[in-house]
Amino acid sequence: MIKALFPASFDPIHNGHIDIINRAAQIFDEVVVGVYDLPDKDLLFSLDERFKLVQECFNDRSMITVVTYSGLTVDYCREINAKVILRGLRVFSDFEYEFRLALSNSELAPDIETLSFITNKEHSFLSSSTVREIALLGGDVSGMVPDNVLKALKDKRNS
Ligand code: ADP
Repeated sequence: MIKALFPASFDPIHNGHIDIINRAAQIFDEVVVGVYDLPDKDLLFSLDERFKLVQECFNDRSMITVVTYSGLTVDYCREINAKVILRGLRVFSDFEYEFRLALSNSELAPDIETLSFITNKEHSFLSSSTVREIALLGGDVSGMVPDNVLKALKDKRNS
C-alpha cells in the first residue's frame, strides 16, 4: 500500500489543487492532504478555516484524508508512513522552487520520493494568491474554486 502526502498552505484550496489530488487518488492507495499550519507568508484564512475548506471538498472520498501538520514535511511523512510527497508544477517559474524543495527533502530523507504532477492546462495560471487578490477586489472567481471556498471568500470580503 502506497500512501502519498500532498502538503500545501491551501490559503485557500482551488481547482488546481483539487485536480492534482483527484489525479493522485487514481494512482495511490491513500492520499493525505496536509494543510501546513504556519507557512512563511501572510495568510487570509486561519488554519482551522483552511482545514475545513479542504475537508469539505473530499468528505465523501475514503482514500483521501485531510490533516493539519506542523514542522518538517519529511518528519510528518515518516510519522504517517507516507513514501511519496506530491507537488504540482505550473509554469516554468515553479520549477526552480520545486526543484530546490525536492532536493532539500531528498537530502533530509532519501527514502521519501517527491513526485510532481504537471498542471492541467486550464489551471496553469491559477494560484491561491491570484484567487485571494481577485476575490478581495470583488472579481468573479467562481471558475477557479469550489462553491464552499467561493462563499468563504465572499464572507471574508464582507467582514
Ligand atoms: P504552498 O505555499 O504550501 O507551496 P501552494 O498552494 O502555493 O502552497 O502550492 C502547493 C503545491 O500545489 C505546489 O507544488 C504548487 O506548485 C501546486 N499548485 C498550486 N497551484 C497549482 C495549479 N494551478 N496547478 C497545479 N499545481 C498547483
